[in-house]
Amino acid sequence: MIRVSQLMETCIRAGQRAGNRIKSIHSSGNLNCVEKGDGQDKITGRPMKDLQTEADRQSESIIFSTILKQFPGIKIVGEEETSGFNMDDDRSEVLGSPNGSLAVSSPTGGLPSDMGEIEEAHVKIFVDPLDGTSEFVRGRLHCVSVIIGIAYKGKAFAGVIYRPFPSAEYPDECMYGVVGFGAFIDQQKIDPTVIKRNEPRRLTTTLSKSNRVIERVFELLQPCVNAKDGGAGWKSWLVINGQVDCYQYPRPGTKRWDILAADAIVTALGGVCTDACGRRIEYDIREDYTNVWGVLLCRDKEWHFSKVVPACHRALTEAANDPEYNQWPHGLAIPPIEISSL
Ligand code: AMP
Ligand code: MG
Ligand code: MG
Repeated sequence: MIRVSQLMETCIRAGQRAGNRIKSIHSSGNLNCVEKGDGQDKITGRPMKDLQTEADRQSESIIFSTILKQFPGIKIVGEEETSGFNMDDDRSEVLGSPNGSLAVSSPTGGLPSDMGEIEEAHVKIFVDPLDGTSEFVRGRLHCVSVIIGIAYKGKAFAGVIYRPFPSAEYPDECMYGVVGFGAFIDQQKIDPTVIKRNEPRRLTTTLSKSNRVIERVFELLQPCVNAKDGGAGWKSWLVINGQVDCYQYPRPGTKRWDILAADAIVTALGGVCTDACGRRIEYDIREDYTNVWGVLLCRDKEWHFSKVVPACHRALTEAANDPEYNQWPHGLAIPPIEISSL
């Protein structure tokens, strides 16, 4: 059995340490950037860079060493598939931002010190050590985040999203939450009873990987603001803090490490994360899972299922059945809408 408070303390610390390493690599200027993919987006066919920098690699190494030192038997999966990491990497990073202020000064921030225990065998951690790598390389630093998601028995359970580069406009650093125990930004508890509804509704999606389905969803949900931005962690952050109403990405591309933390935090606040057909994302132990039908994230559960899921489903169905449109999801059977427990 492991104590939830100890697990959260460790994951928050891991996120801060990783964020500090990302900052120092950024200031050194030695990003040592390589291309991971084949240079093409398989869905849109457009050129797409899937980049990895020294900061992605070292961030993952720090997170793995910090977590595995505390919980040697825990299952953990990282985007960069770190294997030969240095177990002492966690020691080398001093906690705290360069200006001396700690985003989360008490080890578990505002979370209760006793959140009970969970069985280690049913825990699986998904790590995106640097989400928004292309934004990082381009210098759009406010979009960059470190994402640590914790699944328990295949369901979203807890998450940490850490922003290494808070700005004057977006000063907050760390968002974290545990299902059943609430969610926080830095030390501030997010009130689950207050769901800000922007008028007109604000939707966010990818800046760089849009396709016909995504654009159609904006049309179907008019009137709404199309607030495109970078990074899955950052877009999730905007939904959770109420600046936008929905993160829509009804197409393949995101992985569980992109979305698990946000799923847990939004669930802790009574919100919801599903695919474009309204089905919960699975976080069980199967390695072959791919998130084919994308991701939708909203604080407002009622609106999610009554408007957003039907709009995505209609946009998918239209694209699948249009003989003149030959890109994904043309010719595919779209799964029926599932309205999971409102
Ligand atoms: P974007 O919204 O385009 O900035 O993407 C946000 C994050 O989602 C990226 O940093 C990736 O981690 C992930 N992602 C989304 N689409 C893809 C894709 N087609 N291939 C790989 N990763 C993706
Ligand atoms: Mg990512
Ligand atoms: Mg990444």
